[in-house]
Amino acid sequence: MAWGSYSEPMSAAPATKTPRPRILIVGGGYVGLYTAMRLLKKLRDDEAVVTVVNPRSYMTYQPFIPEAAAGAVSPRHVVVPLRRVLRGAEIIAAKVTEINHASRTATVQPLEGDAYPLAYDHLVMAVGSVSRTLPIPGLAEWATGFKTVEEAIQLRNRVLECLDIAESTHSPEIRERNLNFVVVGGGYAGVEALAELEDMARYATRYYPGIDADEVKFHLVEATGQILPEVGPEMGVWTLEQLRKRGIDVKLETRLESCVGGHVVLSDGTEFDAETVVWTAGVKASPVLQKTDLPLNERGRLLADATLRVVGTTNAWGAGDGTAVPDLSTDDHRECAPNAQHAVRQSKVLADNLIAALHGSAMHEYKHKYVGSVAGLGLYKGVANVYGIKVKGVPAWFLHRTYHMSRVPTLNRKVRVIVDWTMALFFKREIVSLWSMHEPFNEFQAAAAPPARRVPPAA
Ligand SMILES: Cc1cc2nc3c(=O)[nH]c(=O)nc-3n(C[C@H](O)[C@H](O)[C@H](O)COP(=O)(O)OP(=O)(O)OC[C@H]3O[C@@H](n4cnc5c(N)ncnc54)[C@H](O)[C@@H]3O)c2cc1C
Repeated sequence: MAWGSYSEPMSAAPATKTPRPRILIVGGGYVGLYTAMRLLKKLRDDEAVVTVVNPRSYMTYQPFIPEAAAGAVSPRHVVVPLRRVLRGAEIIAAKVTEINHASRTATVQPLEGDAYPLAYDHLVMAVGSVSRTLPIPGLAEWATGFKTVEEAIQLRNRVLECLDIAESTHSPEIRERNLNFVVVGGGYAGVEALAELEDMARYATRYYPGIDADEVKFHLVEATGQILPEVGPEMGVWTLEQLRKRGIDVKLETRLESCVGGHVVLSDGTEFDAETVVWTAGVKASPVLQKTDLPLNERGRLLADATLRVVGTTNAWGAGDGTAVPDLSTDDHRECAPNAQHAVRQSKVLADNLIAALHGSAMHEYKHKYVGSVAGLGLYKGVANVYGIKVKGVPAWFLHRTYHMSRVPTLNRKVRVIVDWTMALFFKREIVSLWSMHEPFNEFQAAAAPPARRVPPAA
């Protein structure tokens, strides 16, 4: 067991105290949102203050990120506004940078201004995970992740912008580079991102008479010998065949060696230029856990027991991607995999056990048998393996949508997503790139800059 390292907070100001005990939830994703919702529902107002610290004012429903990238769902509809849903909670748009659990103090770094200490009585670590990267030359500068809605919007605009660039240039090199799209990592995030973007790009080429659909090359690079392990080996092989039938170049047992300046080099010797490289090769526990005095395992996940309480503590709790929770449904009690299925169910048990601790009543252990997975592979395409029932194609796509519809938090979001899908049935897909929104000041700065006068050559 390793312990996170903690150094004294820089500010000597007294930690903010409340007359009621404070339950501090660090992170406003799946675990943060669902835990806070349940605590607010079950606790009386005078029993505790629920404080949620999250850098963004919304929770992201990550399974819809691929559909947001493809334009099937509006990006605003895949996020849940914390202030509206968690009425009665204190929401702080900030990052926690350190935790000194011995003194029950978190250091909070607001969006602007100095960091300050925040005192708490109970701590819920719900910080999730970040992309797990490797020291691959060019990766940090050239590639993009696929964990946030901002990355999804950026990627959608980029793919469409690449089509615009490819069609408008006279340079074969620029054209080829812009028509190569690389996704590294064959888990559900990578496969869904690749499949949805390819589907969108293929559709968009109808409106680009200068680009043949077969010129658009999507490459999936996976280090192991299979893709989509979440749906089991048989469905993984089926998905692989489907992707290859669509002309997608899937390379198994292959690694990205480098992508300096967009020049992609793979371990099988293949080299080509690609403007777009997406990295989805796994996640690791949020690095802020290292800045705590709480116990961590060798992969940096917080160590919790099956009641979701952090090992060796009475009032620190953890769940979701950032926490190693023993999976009591397995013989060896290996740790639960990082997925939404566990995160949502763990939140319920965590909130109930935290309330039990406050009331001095009995706690329960978390036990959930993984039920399988559903994945969207583009419009009317999908794959699923749920409770051992294997489903492919349109029925799996329908199952994927129905399942996530039932899961996306709040009625408000469910209705908005259904409206997006219904509109898409009646109207054609949007194929406009708003790439310039990523550089919104350029136009004004160019207008404001003094015009450079052309100097006539001396007579
Ligand atoms: C593209 C994609 C598709 C997916 N599809 C599926 C699927 O189909 N099925 C499935 O089961 N799972 C899926 N997942 C995985 C699932 O979304 C995660 O397992 C789940 O979000 C984990 O919940 P969490 O609360 O632990 O972390 P998150 O939901 O990631 O929330 C963590 C929160 O903590 C915040 N945070 C981090 N550090 C700090 C800090 N220092 N201070 C304050 N706040 C902080 C983050 O900003 C974030 O809001 C998918 C993931 C992705 C990326």
